Amino acid sequence: MIEFRNVNKHYGQFHVLKQINLTIGAGEVVVVVGPSGSGKSTLLRCINRLETITDGELTVNGVALHSKKTDVNKLRRHIGMVFQHFNLYPHMTVLDNITLAPIKVAGMSKQEAVATAMQYLEKVGIPDKANALPSQLSGGQQQRVAIARGLAMKPQIMLFDEPTSALDPEMIGEVLDVMKSLAREGMTMVVVTHEMGFAREVAHRVVFMDQGQIVEEAAPADFFNNPREERARLFLSRLL
Ligand code: ADP
Ligand code: MG
Repeated sequence: MIEFRNVNKHYGQFHVLKQINLTIGAGEVVVVVGPSGSGKSTLLRCINRLETITDGELTVNGVALHSKKTDVNKLRRHIGMVFQHFNLYPHMTVLDNITLAPIKVAGMSKQEAVATAMQYLEKVGIPDKANALPSQLSGGQQQRVAIARGLAMKPQIMLFDEPTSALDPEMIGEVLDVMKSLAREGMTMVVVTHEMGFAREVAHRVVFMDQGQIVEEAAPADFFNNPREERARLFLSRLL
């Protein structure tokens, strides 16, 4: 579903992604961990072309992202992204936030878009908030709306960039629960998170990044119990 082959990316002179090789299959849940500034967000943002790569090959769902001919809008329809700060439109209701892209981008009828949105609001547990504004919701509820919005385009891949980092501790669980149920349903997910419990429980694979490189890639049990690389050991020891 996603394949990085010898991918490099520079921001000006700064070499942010170094020789990345990573293959993610359909239905896989990959958790990306690593210190701040190691390139996790950049890696994620390359997958939906919010960032372009400098060289190498990046193929997503059969589409070559390194090719200039790629229709970025078409690509993004199949990829949902959830950010740390929710990024909901503040002046629009929950329902309008969720139905906007299905109507404007996918050409869905309003009636169908609303029915679909309500289905996803049920799924994330807040159908009663359909007509609220984002400012009337808690952080955890806003993030669940953002997930519902991502799902409304029926994506094949969901990207999460520290989805719980801006939340009060008591709200983290409700967002992780939604993500866990998505994972169980077979969604292909790439998740940058510091929630190591989530990684242990849900990830098929953990990717550890440091200074723009993938330093270690392992099954969660192996990574957490027995990291091979010194840098990974150091990273894990600092989390305790
Ligand atoms: P992480 O998500 O692991 O914290 P990022 O991918 O956000 O790391 O950033 C990796 C490095 O690239 C950091 O040193 C950051 O300052 C730098 N960086 C990120 N975005 C840009 C940008 N748009 N221009 C220049 N440097 C950037
Ligand atoms: Mg980041």
